[in-house]
Amino acid sequence: MADCLFCKIAHAELKANQAYRDERVVAFHDINPQAPVHVLIVPVRHIENLLALQETDKELLGHLHLVAARLARELGVAEGGFRVVINTNRDAGQSVPHLHLHLLAGRPLGWPPG
Ligand code: 5GP
Ligand code: ZN
Repeated sequence: MADCLFCKIAHAELKANQAYRDERVVAFHDINPQAPVHVLIVPVRHIENLLALQETDKELLGHLHLVAARLARELGVAEGGFRVVINTNRDAGQSVPHLHLHLLAGRPLGWPPG
């Protein structure tokens, strides 16, 4: 997608503070962190959000979560705890229309979320 911010980051056309990369997934630190650890984990391929997922994306979705768990361990927050969030559409506050997991940690996280 030519005009998609996270496609540009995924294809290294825009800079981001990268935490992980492989051929299917890129992870980078959020520009406006909401917790001491706030990493975005995105598929390299453009997928708008959860509603756009296909049956054939099941393995990719599992991989995105395994990367989240790996980063939680690497960033030292696995034992203390962390949250993985996928915002979808308006009421959830999705502001970038390219699927992304938020990995949040490093402080007590309120429940329910606002
Ligand atoms: P959403 O609101 O769509 O669930 O999450 C989008 C996230 O992307 C927000 O937390 C926002 O701070 C982050 N973000 C927006 N633009 C950029 C950017 O250019 N670089 C990085 N690293 N994060 C961004
Ligand atoms: Zn995109």
